[in-house]
Amino acid sequence: MAESFDIIIIGSGPGGYVTAIRAAQLGFKTAIVERAYLGGICLNWGCIPTKALLRSAEIFHYMQHAKDYGLVAEKVSYDAAAVVKRSRGVSKRLNDGVGFLMKKNKVSVIWGEALIDAPGKVTVKPAISEAPKNSDAPKGALGPGAYEASTSSSPPGRGHGCCRALSRTRNWCGPISKPWSPSACRSRCW
Ligand SMILES: Cc1cc2nc3c(=O)[nH]c(=O)nc-3n(C[C@H](O)[C@H](O)[C@H](O)COP(=O)(O)OP(=O)(O)OC[C@H]3O[C@@H](n4cnc5c(N)ncnc54)[C@H](O)[C@@H]3O)c2cc1C
Repeated sequence: MAESFDIIIIGSGPGGYVTAIRAAQLGFKTAIVERAYLGGICLNWGCIPTKALLRSAEIFHYMQHAKDYGLVAEKVSYDAAAVVKRSRGVSKRLNDGVGFLMKKNKVSVIWGEALIDAPGKVTVKPAISEAPKNSDAPKGALGPGAYEASTSSSPPGRGHGCCRALSRTRNWCGPISKPWSPSACRSRCW
């Protein structure tokens, strides 16, 4: 039988992993599917590793102009492989950090390529991404298989009033007769 979650998020980039953490914090049984690296483009190829490379370039530039600052730096050179290695290391640290956050917030990580077969039905196949092969699936990650998501339930222990996740005029089951005040929302949700 397909393992069931309240919410299944596909992709663990900054959009996905933050959503997963919040969903779990609101009490939903949450899973996140990832086919390559936790943290997505930003942590693994985009924002973070590029800034790490730029930092090396910046420091190299400063060293070339050391004299301008009253400093002496002779035979300034670079080791491109070491620069890239540092950048990969920074990404790996943050990528591990996302794994830690998933565990801490009790978000199940499902490793593989997700396909939505029908509303609420997700099949996860082995990762076939063009991404660099990742042997870093966090310990305890679930694997390929059939999964179900049912968002019809309200978060456990929060009644039907999680209005911040929806709106002041809609609760978990549908429209409400009278809009809640912000304080009513707070008392029902938090
Ligand atoms: C070179 C570069 C530099 C950047 N620099 C910056 C910056 O400095 N600041 C900034 O704000 N933004 C930057 N960005 C943009 C930033 O990376 C994106 O805005 C951000 O990553 C988008 O996050 P996301 O969660 O929407 O998707 P992504 O980060 O793209 O994550 C999507 C994730 O979903 C996974 N996935 C997709 N489909 C499936 C599937 N079917 N099954 C399982 N997993 C799946 C992918 O493997 C990936 O891990 C940069 C981008 C690049 C390319």
